[in-house]
Formats: sequence, structure tokens, C-alpha cells
Amino acid sequence: MIARLHDPNYSRWAAQIRATGGCRQPIHLMGRVDHLDRATGALLHRYSTRTEPDGVLRVPCKTRRASRCPACAEVYRADTYQLIRAGLAGGKGVPDTVTAHPCLFVTLTAPSFGAVHTCREKNGKTLPCHARRDAATCPHGNVMSCTTRHGSDEACLGEPLCVDCYDHAGSVLFNALAPQLWRYFTDALRRRVAKSSGLTLRELRKQLTISFAKVAEYQRRGVVHFHAVIRLDGPDGPTSPPPAWATADLLADAVRHAASAVSVTVPAIADEPARVLRWGTQIDTRPITMNGDLTDQAVAGYIAKYATKAAECVGTLDRRINPLDDLTAFNLREHPRRLIAECLRLGALDELADLRLIQWAHMLGFRGHFSTRSRHYSTTLGDIRADRTAYARDEAITTGRLPLFDEDAVLVIAEWEYAGKGYSLGDALLAAALTGTVLPTLPMDGGGDAR
Ligand SMILES: [Zn+2]
Ligand SMILES: [Zn+2]
Ligand SMILES: [Zn+2]
Repeated sequence: MIARLHDPNYSRWAAQIRATGGCRQPIHLMGRVDHLDRATGALLHRYSTRTEPDGVLRVPCKTRRASRCPACAEVYRADTYQLIRAGLAGGKGVPDTVTAHPCLFVTLTAPSFGAVHTCREKNGKTLPCHARRDAATCPHGNVMSCTTRHGSDEACLGEPLCVDCYDHAGSVLFNALAPQLWRYFTDALRRRVAKSSGLTLRELRKQLTISFAKVAEYQRRGVVHFHAVIRLDGPDGPTSPPPAWATADLLADAVRHAASAVSVTVPAIADEPARVLRWGTQIDTRPITMNGDLTDQAVAGYIAKYATKAAECVGTLDRRINPLDDLTAFNLREHPRRLIAECLRLGALDELADLRLIQWAHMLGFRGHFSTRSRHYSTTLGDIRADRTAYARDEAITTGRLPLFDEDAVLVIAEWEYAGKGYSLGDALLAAALTGTVLPTLPMDGGGDAR
């Protein structure tokens, strides 16, 4: 820390750190950017990291995961919010006539894999967890009842009443196959909408597009469910109105039908029984309106929040697990440990190799994308980021850090090389002070491979 403060390059280092916006684990890049005259090949401007502190440029890690870097996850959350909001209320190239398109907020849950401790509230009162008057005793001697009124942050929430009765294998297989189940659902939805309007799929495509934006959320029991915005557009997406027969009621009916119709079958393997995986029976469809119960802001905020989360609420690990790792050494609670152990066990079966359960054991089997949109939903994260890059470039020109070129006459050649990430312990303390961020629990090596 003292060495950094005394470094003649300190103020440039501090400027780099401020520019990362409080990133907890900035990426170090080595390289240069040349601006060449297209006609003559003459070098007009060169930026090189050679003159930067430690010879590197520090850039934000851009993770979406709040558990890894709160600052970068916040940028991702804000971008996702804008993108979802644009698809509901217009903006970012989406016309505001989109508000008139039928639009639903749909939640597709996972089925039950065994009773778990829950915290349920009704009229502001917490209800007993699993009050059963004549509860059965399971083969392991546990009474399948729990009359405790659990607080909303008790560690036992989401954990099975009997950990030996719980279908951990079914849970991780559901996570692994949930993206496929979602694809089947969207196909079935198109077929159902076509059928209820008396059209073939081909005819439907000429009149209507179904646009989606979805996010995966882990429930405490360690299984994913999906929240989705589903909107009916005309043939060209949000710029064209859907046909008059395409109403929110028709869509809601089609969603319920499609969700209950689809399934994914896992054939019997070795000692494993065959399984037919479906969505849970709780299928929630609610209309999104500009001023009703469920507004565009509420939905965009909800989806954006979940887009920055992974499985951490279940108490799993935030990194890949090696099959040779001793799971007992990680100090996990029994339920997540069993889910991870099932991923490792099932992942070793040849027939299930495609599910890559070992690689995704830390995610309890889910290897899908957390937040996805169909092509026509609204703008893209790439476009939002390009806008920000262009803005930063304009600012660099205004402040004189980059000369103003005629863009068509200049060739930009960039060469970058990865040179490490994170902070040394001393740098981490200074960076936290500079950016007003909270320090993570610092490991003794500073958490990065930086000098
Ligand atoms: Zn970051
Ligand atoms: Zn309970
Ligand atoms: Zn049991």
C-alpha cells in the first residue's frame, strides 16, 4: 500500500481504478491501439499500456454475478432492466405502440422432489411450515410434519423434512433438462396459438411472432424455475401490431396448455428409474399493464434482479467442483452437498454424459443461460454496451485523451493480451477507499494473481 502511494504513477493508477467503477477483480490487459491513416498508412496516434502503472490497463471484469463483483453485476442489472423495460414500454429503438401488444408475466416452476421447510405468509402472519394432523412417518423414522413458524432467513428453509427421502437425483436432472423443457414449451406454445386460431404454423408466422425474455431463478430447495415476459407481436416483431384475434386471454390459455403438455423423459439407466420431468403444477400467468397490479417497471426490476444471481442462495459453491474434491471439506450443509454429490454420481454415467453434470455440479446441474431473450424482444445487451463505448469514446475525444479523427479515414488496430486479474492486498484496500466499495473477505493472497 505504501509502495503504491509513493509510486510516481499513483494518480494514473487511481484514475484507472476509478474508471473500473469499483470492480472487485479487474482484468489486466497489456497491449496497444494504433490509429493509422487508411490512405498513407501513417501512424496518427498510438495508445500503449507500456506507460501505464505496472505496464497494464485495468478494465472491469463485467461479470453478471453479484457474488463475484457487485459493481459489474450492478451494470449488468441496470442494462438488463433497460432491455426488459424497452420490450414492455418502448424505447431503445422499440416503438411505444408495443404497450398495446398482449403481454404476460409467466412463472414456470419445478415439480416437487420431496417436502421442504418453507416460510409462508398470509395477511402478514407467518404460517406453520408443514402442519399435518395425521402426518406419516417416513422409512427413516422422520415424521413428515413441521409446525415451526420459520423466519424468512432461517438456514433450514428449502431443506427437506427428510434428507434421505428427498429425490436429489430428480432435482439435478430437472435442472439439467430445464432448458430443453423450456424449448419444448415455446414450441408447444406456438403450436397451441396456431391451433386455437385455426392456422398452420407456417400461416401463423406470417401474422404473428411470440417474443420472450426469461430469467432463471434458484428456489431455496436448489431447483431452478423460470420467470418470463411473453408478448404477442406482428410478423416483424415489436414494430408491427399482432392480429386482432391474438388477445392476452388467448395467450394465457395457450401458456397453461403448453406448460402442462410438455415433458422430457430420462430413460432408466443402471439402478436409476426412468423419469418423466414436467413443470410443476403452479403455473402463474399475469397480465403486464402500464398502470395495473403488475407494471412494466416492476417486471423489469424483478427480471433484472434475478439476472445477477446464481445458485448462491442454496448454499452451494461459487466455482467449479473437481470430482476428486473432498466434498466434506467444503463445509456445506447436507442438502446442497447431496445435490452436488448426485451431479458427480450421475455425471459419471455414460448415458448422461451430454448433460455435463460434473462440470455444472456447483450449479446443481443447471448449465443454461440465466437470462435470455428471443431475437425480436427488444434491443440487445450488445447494443446497450456499444452505446456506452461510443459515449466513452466521445468523452475521451472531448477531454483530449483521444484525437478527433474522420472515422472513415482511420484504421484502428488493437492488440491485447491477458496479463492477470484482481488486486494485491494493498491495492485492494486502496481501491476500496477510492471507489467507496465494501471489501470482500480478503484471502491472504489478495484473491488475484496481480503483483
Ligand atoms: Zn468486476
Ligand atoms: Zn419446517
Ligand atoms: Zn425419510
